[in-house]
Amino acid sequence: DELVSQIAAGEVVERPASVVRELVDNALDAGARQIVVRLLAGGVRLISVEDDGLGIASDELALALRRHATSKIASLAELETVGTMGFRGEALAAIHSISELTLHSRSSQAADGGGWSLDGRSGELRPVARGVGTTVEVRELFFATPARRKFLKTDATELAHCIEAVRRHALARPEVGFAIWHEGKLVEQWRPAASLDARLADTLGADFIERSVAVDSESRAANGSTIRVRGRAGIPDAARARGDQQFCYVNGRFVRDKVLMHAARSAYEDVLHGQRQPIYALYLEIDPARVDVNVHPTKIEVRFRESREVHQAVRHAIEDALAAPRA
Ligand code: ADP
Ligand code: MG
Repeated sequence: DELVSQIAAGEVVERPASVVRELVDNALDAGARQIVVRLLAGGVRLISVEDDGLGIASDELALALRRHATSKIASLAELETVGTMGFRGEALAAIHSISELTLHSRSSQAADGGGWSLDGRSGELRPVARGVGTTVEVRELFFATPARRKFLKTDATELAHCIEAVRRHALARPEVGFAIWHEGKLVEQWRPAASLDARLADTLGADFIERSVAVDSESRAANGSTIRVRGRAGIPDAARARGDQQFCYVNGRFVRDKVLMHAARSAYEDVLHGQRQPIYALYLEIDPARVDVNVHPTKIEVRFRESREVHQAVRHAIEDALAAPRA
């Protein structure tokens, strides 16, 4: 089972940032309002993610590390409309198999007493004093798979990927506060924001709001459900155009999707004049039954049932926004 988990880990965990993404997913699923990420050596020595979510009961700590143990869906039917980030029950087991993992948690159910800490290796359970919520500590990532470890870049590069992973979550959840520490220094902090625009300004730069237009369109799909596209589309600006600042979300989940990116590029075609991709953050809300999120272990890819409809909706939403007189 250890070997199976290690092989699964190869699909889910490419680098420290993949662990950060999974742990922050879990914190958000647990209803956290404040998430603190602490890293050593770009995450290779230590990744710690602390949340103030509902915690894990002491008798469920060990279960959380087991393969295919998820508390989030009870049936295959629920997979169709899954509202949480996680549902496969693989991440913790996979990470556990390639690192030294410790869980610290205090459940919101008072009957459980104070907090508990589980050492993943020894299985030892110990009482600890802490507030309600969970801290997952991952040390010495890839210690058992030196080949993988060799492919990692410098600490600075791995740190940048970790920050990017948290930024993607921060753009999906403005109301949640995030802080990132590296080697004992605070490197990013995004306080809980009152609006998406406030969070966008905080994470992408205050001038992004001036250099972008609001997107907000709704269209009706052939089956009668609606497709809503919200967000902000950057005004093409050669000076600031960067390859990696296109953020797409489907029902709150960050995705890298060819249909969405192509739709955006088509919308910009007339105004881009050969410049590189502009910055944008787009939020697609679509009937969960019209999109499959269980395509890839990392869930970063999705498949739309009616991809032409989605393409059109996104393209028109951005075209309308770019054409509208600027407020
Ligand atoms: P999944 O998220 O797909 O359910 P994971 O392996 O990521 O699977 O997590 C396994 C289980 O551990 C979750 O279903 C959840 O019950 C529990 N868990 C993990 N992280 C947290 C957390 N930060 N707060 C509360 N529960 C958690
Ligand atoms: Mg998860």
